[in-house]
Amino acid sequence: MSVLSTELTLRCNVKCEICNATGELSAYVVAPKTGNLTEEQVALCETCLNQIQSPETADSNHWRCLNDSMWSPIAAVQVVSYRMLQNLSDQQWAQDLLGMMYLDDPTQEWADALSSSTVHKDSNGNILLAGDTIVLIKDLEVKGANFTAKRGTAVRKISLVLDNPEQIEGRVNDQHIVLLTKFVRKTS
Ligand SMILES: [Zn+2]
Repeated sequence: MSVLSTELTLRCNVKCEICNATGELSAYVVAPKTGNLTEEQVALCETCLNQIQSPETADSNHWRCLNDSMWSPIAAVQVVSYRMLQNLSDQQWAQDLLGMMYLDDPTQEWADALSSSTVHKDSNGNILLAGDTIVLIKDLEVKGANFTAKRGTAVRKISLVLDNPEQIEGRVNDQHIVLLTKFVRKTS
């Protein structure tokens, strides 16, 4: 982080680009970009900066401002908003906003660049979140349970296998089973 360039000062209008606070602002470089260009930076107030750098301290009330910043036309602001919503995605309001958010492909890649190893994606590359509903896109033999989960079966309220981005869990035929993300499609 550093002082704001003239270009960034003009863009942000001397306000935090996430929460609109005035006061001391820093130029935050949105990794993995290096910040050589103004468009790779976001002007942040101290509160936003501290909580982005230590996401475990995030105060969810402060981050209701994402409701506005997620619609920013500036890609770097979208990326920061998206990542913070993901960080808060154990809360329903954050999940709802993520569901409404639209990023173009380069911006989505930028947003996912740091965490692609832990993001769960369905067969179409859509991000899966805990609580989503998916459908199976092929018949799956469930080993040990002696039944076939049919293609088209809807599975509600999935959970994510946290240390394996290729696996989710859900209930099919009243059995709690592990599903591979490549065989599912998100419907909600
Ligand atoms: Zn702020």
